Parts: sequence; structure tokens; C-alpha cells
Amino acid sequence: MPEACHKLFNGTTISLHQGDITRENVDAIVNAANSSLMGGGGVDGAIHRAAGPAVLEECKQIRAVQGQCAPGDAVITGGGKLKAQYIIHTVGPIWRSGNTNEKQTLSNAYQNSLQLAIDNEISTIAFPSISTGAYGYPVAEAAQVAIAAVKSVVEQMDESGHLKQVRFVLFDSFTFEAYKQALLDS
Ligand code: ADP
Repeated sequence: MPEACHKLFNGTTISLHQGDITRENVDAIVNAANSSLMGGGGVDGAIHRAAGPAVLEECKQIRAVQGQCAPGDAVITGGGKLKAQYIIHTVGPIWRSGNTNEKQTLSNAYQNSLQLAIDNEISTIAFPSISTGAYGYPVAEAAQVAIAAVKSVVEQMDESGHLKQVRFVLFDSFTFEAYKQALLDS
């Protein structure tokens, strides 16, 4: 495993780790969900398997009230059987050509997730690499968008924001290296 790396922005640490996000001991983990909120493959499937049926039930209730979750939006549930107290489910863009607003939608997914975290007084949160699996977003570009989005939220946060640590938990070394480069360049 490569060594974790981190950088401090306005009192909040952004850190990078390689591993499995379902095992993270943080207040909230973020799920790269799809618009249905009904679970799926990849990290979504892994999170629902680890969290158990209560979380899917909560997602169904959210869906019944507000319908599908649009790309770029985020909703929050409990963490079920996870160590994390909350799961923030966000929907990244499906990569098409880069000309269908993918960059803004991906940035919105990170920023809306962090806003929910701030609203819920969360201090530690872990993100996977949203959209770079089944949704096909090129990893190097996605890493730059992800780091820039997190950086802009924490730099604008005032003293009332509790966020102390934003972790990226990256499944493979290729993705880890791309995020490391983006963090070094930021
Ligand atoms: P998307 O549909 O948003 O592309 P995927 O789940 O297909 O979401 O992939 C997003 C990223 O999550 C990929 O880099 C994938 O390797 C990674 N991933 C899959 N399982 C896990 C896990 N348990 N922990 C962290 N990252 C994971």
C-alpha cells in the first residue's frame, strides 16, 4: 500500500488513502450511487452489502418522498451496520464526451455532499472516486475536479463548519496516484 498523503486547507485536512471505503472509521462515508438510489454495482453495491437492509429501506423512503436523485445531488441516510454514522449518497455524471456538463455535475456531487456534511455537523468524511468506475469519467480529470471542489468548499467554510478531515479512499493504485498528482498540483 502506498503511504497516505495529506494537505491542510483553512483548517481542514484533505487526505488520500488506498483501500476499501466500507471499512472507514469516519462520521460519514459517501456513496457513488445511481439516480434510483436502489443500490447497484461497484462501490454502491459494496456499501449496501456492508451497511445492511436498513439503509436500502431508508433510500426507498427518500425516493418515495422526492423521487429520483438527479446527477450532482446528494441525500443522507444512517450508516446501518457500518462504523460510519451516516452515508451520503450522491450521483455523479455518466461520462459521455465531456461536452454534456460532466465537469460541473461532478463538482456539484462533491460540493452538495460536503454541504450535507456541514449541515449535519459532521467532522470526518470519506469519499470514493465518484464516476470513474462504471460511469467512465477519465480518472486524471476526475481527480482534479474532486480536489478542486473539496478545496473550494473548505476554503469558503467559516468557523461554524465542523469539517476537520476529508478523506479520499481510493480502491486501486492507479486511482490513488492520479489523486496524489491532483493534490500535489492544488
Ligand atoms: P461510478 O458508477 O460512480 O463510476 P463505481 O462504483 O463503478 O462508481 O466506481 C467508482 C470508484 O469506486 C472506482 O474507482 C472503483 O474502483 C471504486 N470502488 C469500488 N469498490 C470500492 C470500495 N469498496 N471502496 C472504495 N472504492 C471502491
